[in-house]
Amino acid sequence: MKYDAQIYRPPKEYKSILLQVTSGCTHNKCKFCGMYRYTTFKMESLEQIEKDIIEASQHPFYKNSKRIFLLNGNPFVLKTERLLKIAELIHKHLPKIEVITTYSSIKDIEMKTDEELELLKKAGYNDLYLGIESGNQKALEFINKGNTVEEAIREMKRLDKFDYNYYAMILTGLMGKGIDKAIENGQLTGKMLSKVNCRGIFPMSVTLVPGTELWDLYVNGEYEEATEYDRLIELREIIENLKPEKTALISSAHNSNTMYIKGIVPRETERLLREIDEILTENSPEEMQEWIDRRRIML
Ligand code: SF4
Repeated sequence: MKYDAQIYRPPKEYKSILLQVTSGCTHNKCKFCGMYRYTTFKMESLEQIEKDIIEASQHPFYKNSKRIFLLNGNPFVLKTERLLKIAELIHKHLPKIEVITTYSSIKDIEMKTDEELELLKKAGYNDLYLGIESGNQKALEFINKGNTVEEAIREMKRLDKFDYNYYAMILTGLMGKGIDKAIENGQLTGKMLSKVNCRGIFPMSVTLVPGTELWDLYVNGEYEEATEYDRLIELREIIENLKPEKTALISSAHNSNTMYIKGIVPRETERLLREIDEILTENSPEEMQEWIDRRRIML
């Protein structure tokens, strides 16, 4: 299998076939993100893609896989015609595949018509991972996300219309130090995600990565990192304000988080809040600060 650059995949896709169809991210401007900073976006050739699919179909670990995860960056940006061709090759050589899953930006969805979204869903595209980050317009502008809160809600609603499974990846601590910022971000993110029907919500916490704009702001004293206490308060606010029409899984199983919570909202909201409150009352902000060394982890 051909892999040009470092691979990023969601934890849930640990058993999926990892197929490179693009390299890099077409946006590549989020202030906190160093994932594809030095990778120029390019498409993989269909010849190479088919070669890799055939290789996977002959591999003892992969040949019976039901899921395939398309790498890298934001493959859903590809034109519908190309995505359909890739799906055709996948189903031809890997007939047991049920789900084609990948990362997508809000802009990638916006570029597709309703008819195209419907066609892609029928071709097996489902389980899209979206970098939503925050429901706070100020935060999206600050990090240079490239879409507004309203656009994110509108595009997620279009996914709802065609019954896509999709997951919102969100980031606590984006606006930096301060309980007020944590509460505001948490409330706005929870309220935003209550308007749509994500299958899952995956909170992560912002971590400064050398080489990024956010790192430079920090080094120049223009950005103060959120404390671990702030981040947990923000997570609490998100959960308290999450009242989606359908149920959604929320899981903080990512090494950027200090606390692991997992449950179904709104059904288990009370339990999740209770678990967070226990941590908040039993530990001081100073103690929490020792729980994670953010200089040693990367997003
Ligand atoms: S966070 Fe996502 S959209 Fe933003 S630069 Fe990184 S990979 Fe691209």
